[in-house]
Amino acid sequence: MHKVPLLDLTAQYAALKDELDSAVARVVNSQRFVLGPEVEACEEAVAGYVGSRYGIGVSSGTDALLLALMAEEVGPGDEVITTPFSFFATAGVITRVGATPVFVDVDPVTLNIDAPLVAERITERTRAIIPVHLFGQMAEMAPIMSAARERGIVVIEDAAQAIGARHGGGRAGSIGDYGCFSFFPTKNLGGWGDGGMIVTNDPARADRLRALRVHGESVKYHHRFVGGNFRLDALQAAVLQAKLRHLDGWTDARIANAALYTHLLEGVARRRRGRLQLPGVVTERHVFNQYVIQIEDRDRVRGALEAGGVGTAIYYPLPLHLQECYQGLGYRNGDLPESERAAGRVLALPVFPELNEGQIRHVASMIERLVSA
Ligand SMILES: *Cc1c(COP(=O)(O)O)cnc(C)c1O
Repeated sequence: MHKVPLLDLTAQYAALKDELDSAVARVVNSQRFVLGPEVEACEEAVAGYVGSRYGIGVSSGTDALLLALMAEEVGPGDEVITTPFSFFATAGVITRVGATPVFVDVDPVTLNIDAPLVAERITERTRAIIPVHLFGQMAEMAPIMSAARERGIVVIEDAAQAIGARHGGGRAGSIGDYGCFSFFPTKNLGGWGDGGMIVTNDPARADRLRALRVHGESVKYHHRFVGGNFRLDALQAAVLQAKLRHLDGWTDARIANAALYTHLLEGVARRRRGRLQLPGVVTERHVFNQYVIQIEDRDRVRGALEAGGVGTAIYYPLPLHLQECYQGLGYRNGDLPESERAAGRVLALPVFPELNEGQIRHVASMIERLVSA
């Protein structure tokens, strides 16, 4: 029996062991572990890759989002529009600065925020919009940017899952006022621990972010703002620089794996319309951090796959507007039907770059059998 894990990082490490070990050794020999030249080089490399002027390395993707809101002084009384179908951090940071998340339902094909609906939910209190580029595919940025620009609202892209994704002539993270990335190990560019980065084209914003990540100081022990310790460390920066050189190759392999799944499953998806839905690709470059199908009796199919040695995951089983901590916001079941429907149907399949064709064919044939039964 083939075992197919959802993700296996050991294969990637084996292929790059010498390169990564020597990057880490470089930092160890320097004994400079916090910020410094490694972090600066990493910031320049990532910002250049994304197509933005400035990169600010931070402690995680969550902290990247939090710092963008802090830099704009978003706070109590303010509203921030976002999607209910994302990792919790996207909404959690809004609450942490004292603002109120306003959830706009998702498009049923891409599961990204339904961009044309965003303008309808803007009020005089709206200070920011946080679109998420879910699973590696960019949200539709054009209507979001024009609605925001007309009213002076800031746009913070949550590009944690989408480094290298492209649409409409721009890369994920380079279109809004801020682009936020995560280097959590399961992301397409993963560090050896937590890490993140904010990119921006605005020198004043870059300056403010650099101060905020070190307790709001630009001159040592003189504090312009109340910030925090949100720094990226040099070991992560060294690993990330080495890995970035391989990112396009890994992304191409993810895209090829996704294309093979779609090729193998599109027949049964057509025959069993309504029962099985494949990822809808509507943008130029979807980088497939996850390959997520939607399936009617998801839990039965998942159980059978697990029993057969195939790793899967559910991103995400409960939309954000229905989380216990957000009961006070007053949303009810049925308010955001597309995200609620997706939460009951989504299933992420293994798509990491080192999978081989036999493994993908094995997973696809199991799904075909389970869906046809
Ligand atoms: C991973 C992720 C984050 C948070 O990143 P961390 O580095 O884990 O803090 C935020 N938003 C989305 C959509 C993510 O996938």
